[in-house]
Amino acid sequence: MVALKWPRIEPNPVTDHSAPDGEPEVPTVSCARCDREWDLDREVSEVGVGGHAIEQFALDHERHTGHYPDDVRPWIVRCRRCPDGERFLSERSARRWAQTHARHTRHTVDVEAPTGDDDVVTAADE
Ligand SMILES: [Zn+2]
Ligand SMILES: [Zn+2]
Repeated sequence: MVALKWPRIEPNPVTDHSAPDGEPEVPTVSCARCDREWDLDREVSEVGVGGHAIEQFALDHERHTGHYPDDVRPWIVRCRRCPDGERFLSERSARRWAQTHARHTRHTVDVEAPTGDDDVVTAADE
């Protein structure tokens, strides 16, 4: 009778050195102005890994402190006609806001990239 040999189960197969212990990688954000660093484990559990944890954190940080964490530079959209404007951390969201605003109000919206490039979105004739 040969004893069945079960495959040895490695409790923590290390395939990625950035994710020890098999835990999903938790993004971190640092801010030189606050001299702090945060693990976004709470944000990740709320929006999911690969979600917009860093984006959400950066927006919250700016809302409460008036500045963005390190390495985060927003897209800024500003309407030329009304005080409406927003800041976004992704080009797609920024352009979507500009196009939606222009479409509904027929206002001209400036889109300012983090690189300093400017773009203008106007309502297309429909
Ligand atoms: Zn800060
Ligand atoms: Zn407007």
